Amino acid sequence: MSNVPVPDQEPLKRIAELRSRLRDASDAYYGQDSPILSDADYDAMLRELAALEVDQNLASDPTSPTTTIGAEPSGRFPAVRHSRPMMSLDNVFSPDELDRWFDRVEGSLEGTGPLQDGGPWYVFELKIDGLAISLRYDHGTLVGAATRGNGLVGEDVTANVIEIDAIPKALNREFGGSLPPTLEVRGEIYMSHSAFSDLNERQGRQGLPVFANPRNSAAGSLRQKDPTVTKERQLSFWAYQLVDDEGVVPLSTHYEALALLRGLGFPVNEHVVRFQMRSEARRLLDVWEHERHNLDYDIDGGVIKVDELELRRQLGSTTRAPRWAIAYKFPPEEQQTLLREILVSVGRTGRATPFAVLDPVFVGGSTVSMATLHNEDQVRLKDVRPGDVVIVRKAGDVIPEIVGPVLHYRQDSSRPWSFPTTCPSCSTKLERIEGESDFRCPNRNCPAQVVQRIVQYGSRSALDIEGLGEQRVEQLVEANLVRDPADLYDLTVEVVSGLERFGALSAEQLVMEISRSRTRPLDRVLTGLSIRHVGAVAAATLASRFPRLSEIRYVDEESLLALDGIGETIARSVREYFNDPTNRGLIDRLIDHGVGEYVEESEEAFNSGVGVDLTGVTFVVTGVLESMSRDEAQREIRRRGGKVTSSVSAKTKFVVAGQEPGVSKISKAESLSVSILDETQFLELLRVGVTLAPDRDFGEPEGVSTKSREQSAGQR
Ligand code: NAD
Repeated sequence: MSNVPVPDQEPLKRIAELRSRLRDASDAYYGQDSPILSDADYDAMLRELAALEVDQNLASDPTSPTTTIGAEPSGRFPAVRHSRPMMSLDNVFSPDELDRWFDRVEGSLEGTGPLQDGGPWYVFELKIDGLAISLRYDHGTLVGAATRGNGLVGEDVTANVIEIDAIPKALNREFGGSLPPTLEVRGEIYMSHSAFSDLNERQGRQGLPVFANPRNSAAGSLRQKDPTVTKERQLSFWAYQLVDDEGVVPLSTHYEALALLRGLGFPVNEHVVRFQMRSEARRLLDVWEHERHNLDYDIDGGVIKVDELELRRQLGSTTRAPRWAIAYKFPPEEQQTLLREILVSVGRTGRATPFAVLDPVFVGGSTVSMATLHNEDQVRLKDVRPGDVVIVRKAGDVIPEIVGPVLHYRQDSSRPWSFPTTCPSCSTKLERIEGESDFRCPNRNCPAQVVQRIVQYGSRSALDIEGLGEQRVEQLVEANLVRDPADLYDLTVEVVSGLERFGALSAEQLVMEISRSRTRPLDRVLTGLSIRHVGAVAAATLASRFPRLSEIRYVDEESLLALDGIGETIARSVREYFNDPTNRGLIDRLIDHGVGEYVEESEEAFNSGVGVDLTGVTFVVTGVLESMSRDEAQREIRRRGGKVTSSVSAKTKFVVAGQEPGVSKISKAESLSVSILDETQFLELLRVGVTLAPDRDFGEPEGVSTKSREQSAGQR
């Protein structure tokens, strides 16, 4: 939600409004660890205020949020006065602004004394998104810890800090050499991503609300009345400053100070770089803007600091921030916006997924107007409701997510959202799958599912049919031209060009693209069929062993399980898919259109089971088969050159016996020593054929054998 520009207000009124809103936001952010504005909105408002104050000659007002630091101590902890103010940092948001900061620094230092060749040295550090802490050591022992508070007075959180393992309680004095008896070290307390997700998992298990982000969780976890809670929260720490304004410690640079801190036992971030060229700062910022997601903690930018302590003293500070350091802030990955409504979409397998419709908001590099809410449990856990102001997060290429509501803005009339009981597309009652968090629409003819299945079929990872986007599929389904993927191959240019928004050319192209898709390899076809649990990887595994649709459709569960990477869930799902009568019809029609049958010669030979030749072999099929009807079984035999008769005779080589076979057929077969195949053996035979002895004596059922690569290749 962009709360920022209200251009037509009188400047003084706007200044008053901005100050008041920023103060409220700071109280919520620092005092309650529960922000009511996004950082980006806060920063934008602060900048607007700063510009207006300069215009109106109000820039030095000591009570304005532009000059104050943090927030007043809450009174929950004893107050501690800092030996030196704990300052904030000035911010820049673009390379140009950063350049101007370099100009200012180098301009002020000119003529103040000898600079090294090429100007001052700088240090680059990551800007850790946590909260600042001051640690006091007396003769090497931790004696006090305080938050920043308002910069002058902080909160005494010593008891809690003692519980943070990463913070040394006693210093490695041997390393320190001639250190003064008292020492102050500052740094950032933060919560790692792993600790954060552990914490939220625990909260979820206990039915407690989840935390919005690691920064607020870190602050909330530190400012606890009960130190054991702080301990459980697994906070971490990076040290980034040795406070030595008097120059007591014999050091001349910040870089050396960091090395000393490391030696004394403090964790110092490993990504610190010392440099002299401005271009290096830009390069590092560029790297970290993209690499930030590979860290196990949040950063919101980089900090560039003048390295030489003497130059720092010369540059000094404003009331709010040192002049020798600057924070470069990365574009925001979290924003606030209004959640207009929660809708449910039904996917190709019938899964019903709630998603949020948002007021469009620019975050993480793109405009976001929708975000998935995954499932009912997630909505309940996050307690997001229509009408809420919510935090939207989009980090890198990750899909946008709703972090949670900003409760501050919630209306009293707001009610929790509940999952619909019927399918939004076809009104069928939704079913919650046992042991899963998902609801499904059980109606396979549900228009939403039909559309999504066809969209999936034509998608890039599947049959890659260009021009078959969701809108076109909807149009074809609505016009009753297409109900499943096989129908696509019956479309003609005449029919398609008769539809709205289709010209002759686009109709021709679409029909051609569809036709072309017939030669796609089987793994893409399997990916396109929306078989539950079968994604591109499983599809590739399956197709590498059984490369044709006419073959894989009959492979039994056991043979599927024998494949590396195919477990029970996938094997069962594949079998269930091909056993389903509607799917069987679809597969027949696809095969008739030549789909899933195209195999490169060498691959075909390698994978065997292709070109099975049953010429001269007579079958009788009896009983009920699970994976296909009797008609289909007979067709498969004939397809391979075999013959099917209705009664058993001396010419019969195999009786295929399903459930409840004809008793007379079985006893006749036994009396004539005809081989009786159960369904598994029959499917294996369809796939790999039989050992071809010269006299075509196939022997007992065990005679069904897997051909070697050479045999199968040689046969064709
Ligand atoms: P800041 O966070 O922009 O920068 C100063 C702080 O950076 C330091 O105090 C320190 O804690 C931290 N830091 C992290 N890594 C560091 C490093 N390597 N070296 C030195 N310092 C490092 O400024 P601030 O004064 O802490 O807070 C102001 C900012 O906080 C705002 O710009 C805004 O982003 C956020 N804020 C947000 C709200 C809100 O409502 N969302 C309210 C108040 C403040």
